[in-house]
Amino acid sequence: MTFRALVVEKGDEGKTTASVQDLGEDRLPEGDVTVAVEYSTLNYKDGLCVGPGGGLVRVYPHVPGIDFAGTVEASEDDRYKPGDKVVLTGWRVGEVHWGGYAEKARVKADWLVPLPEGLTTRQAMAVGTAGFTAMLAVMALEDHGLTSEKGEVLVTGAAGGVGSVATAILANLGYEVAAVTGRPEQEEYLKGLGASRIVPRADLAETTKRPLEAETWAGCVDAVGGDMLARVLGQMKYGASVAAVGLAGGAQLPATVIPFLLRGVNLLGIDSVMQPYDNRLRAWDRIARDLPMDKLEAMVEPAGLADLPDLGRAILKGGVRGRVVVDVT
Ligand code: NDP
Repeated sequence: MTFRALVVEKGDEGKTTASVQDLGEDRLPEGDVTVAVEYSTLNYKDGLCVGPGGGLVRVYPHVPGIDFAGTVEASEDDRYKPGDKVVLTGWRVGEVHWGGYAEKARVKADWLVPLPEGLTTRQAMAVGTAGFTAMLAVMALEDHGLTSEKGEVLVTGAAGGVGSVATAILANLGYEVAAVTGRPEQEEYLKGLGASRIVPRADLAETTKRPLEAETWAGCVDAVGGDMLARVLGQMKYGASVAAVGLAGGAQLPATVIPFLLRGVNLLGIDSVMQPYDNRLRAWDRIARDLPMDKLEAMVEPAGLADLPDLGRAILKGGVRGRVVVDVT
């Protein structure tokens, strides 16, 4: 028995190449649940794992894909039986363990969650790791006191995967969303997701010597990091929180502690990879309730396994809009 997979190999000079191959089932890694994968997605990290590796992939040949949804084919764990629909995000699957860019995956039962009620496997992957993380960020902001009457919520990297889902969820919950984008041509798209105004990336790209600026944002979901996050911290309202999700603009944080000390601003770290099971269920349940499915569909760009090398390069350059859903079959 064979299955199709996108396999990344590393040549003698350290250069990686990705191609679709037929693999024998005996190549599947160890695990207690075998899943017939239906859909996977493209996230920023996948861009690294399909291409240069970014230090995430240790062993080649490698099958990337940091998330997937599908149907259990065989299980040695009581929690899952053949025919169950399941979703996987995180746990370094697609990085150190073979991932979802394949018709089959074998993983630990602990890493799976049941497909949330009300979602199809395709919708779950339209959400994917990026959307799941956006929900975690919104939950963290709410847990720290954010409510819609407090004012505008900023979303950075808004036309990307995390940003698009965060924008749609926040708008649906009644928040006024200011969407930061470097792509002015995406204004209509972002307003369609519910953004009430667009903030040009250039307005927040430059650093300032002033540690505090006008108190503007009641909350922020930040997918960009770097200079932009540093600048945003000084613009937060008194007691407001920023959920730090990503580093699309850089891993440095050239900020001062003044916003924390004088305005009680909170910087909340968001990690989706090692998230405990109960909170995963809570986030997926919120996604099924709070993310309008028509808005989700508007974000989707469909793709197949063979499209991933090009799309992987594009996402690393900030050139992908919304969510790429990969039909692996
Ligand atoms: P995308 O590439 O889809 O989105 C990133 C967006 O950031 C781009 O679309 C672009 O938006 C903006 N952007 C890109 N480059 C720059 C730049 N140099 N300066 C400012 N803005 C930039 O990626 P994802 O949404 O999948 O992921 C976003 C980030 O979140 C990544 O860093 C990723 O690693 C991280 N992440 C973290 C997770 C966690 O568990 N903490 C989980 C998932 C993702 P626009 O064109 O609108 O400006």
